[in-house]
Amino acid sequence: MVDKDYSLERRLTYDGVVHHPLGGGSYVFQRNYVEYLARNISKQNLRISIGAQPNSSPHFGTLVVFNLAYALGKKISRGTIKPEIFFEIIDTAPSESVEIGGIDYQISLRYSNVANSCLGDYFELLDLLNSFSGISYTSRKQRDFNSEPEIPKILKNIVQNRDLIAPIIDPQNGLLRMRVACSDCGLTDKKGINTKYYDDRIESYCPEHKWFETYFEGESEKFEYNTPLRNLIRGIVYTRDNQNKEVPFEWLRVTGSDYAGYYQEQLLYKTASLLGISAHELPTIVYAPLVVDWSGAKLSKSLYLKQNAYKNLPQYLVNYKKFRDELGEKGAKKMFEEVSLWLEEPYRLFRDYSVYYFLEIFKND
Ligand SMILES: [Zn+2]
Repeated sequence: MVDKDYSLERRLTYDGVVHHPLGGGSYVFQRNYVEYLARNISKQNLRISIGAQPNSSPHFGTLVVFNLAYALGKKISRGTIKPEIFFEIIDTAPSESVEIGGIDYQISLRYSNVANSCLGDYFELLDLLNSFSGISYTSRKQRDFNSEPEIPKILKNIVQNRDLIAPIIDPQNGLLRMRVACSDCGLTDKKGINTKYYDDRIESYCPEHKWFETYFEGESEKFEYNTPLRNLIRGIVYTRDNQNKEVPFEWLRVTGSDYAGYYQEQLLYKTASLLGISAHELPTIVYAPLVVDWSGAKLSKSLYLKQNAYKNLPQYLVNYKKFRDELGEKGAKKMFEEVSLWLEEPYRLFRDYSVYYFLEIFKND
């Protein structure tokens, strides 16, 4: 929603001088940030986790996050740590929504097959970043994530504590937002309005095929969550892996800084603590700077797709496909070098960057 269209009124030009004022994180971690991260990793093999909902070509913000993950992998591998990139594909995100009887039902990307058609650009980007960094990658879809042996116990713990967790995870409605798609038609009660919870299963309602049960044990691969609940469950799975000496790797997460601060304090650290996991046990999260428009709002993929926003911006700022078409591999290399610099000089990392900053970087390409 645009509050007011300022486009025809006066515009400020910018002086092109980049300042890096120190304060908060950029003050404390202004030097040797990667060494700090490395000191907190105890296993040799490190999985650097990144995620995305593949409903279009990777948008520019995702490009920054993925570049940062690989740049971190490259820099941290100078010691004894052996990193790999681990791409968590969120193919359960909504593809279509339909309202039936006043309840919102969704069809996931995996049922609509949108996810598979968009993944090609993601793998191309990952391959390219692999060629720049020498760091390999693995990926998995939500079904594989949910098949992790710890999941049934975690689901049970969350369901048993839902009176504590749900009001935090869903402040609007206080619903747990744990759901399973109907196996006949793919319809999913998005908010879990009708969902019933038991100690060993949930019961879901499909308007066409009626009630069906899904057990935590043996059927966990079918579960889906909203983003905050998935963030919590993933955080706990990673914690358990990090603590388990039998698991030969350790997790670290890289994500966009729109998930930093208050979001994580409320939705991850507070809820994990209520479930018996201490905040210091949760895996480290490294936050990538946001790419923001002139007003300071992050570039939004859905605004671009649905409302034809940003038509005045160069199209390479929109998504990877357009970036690759306009700037090619040379542009991608430049992007990787820029993001690598943020780790070399970490006072550059704890801040956001406007589209004008990238216009300057790529102005001659
Ligand atoms: Zn159904």
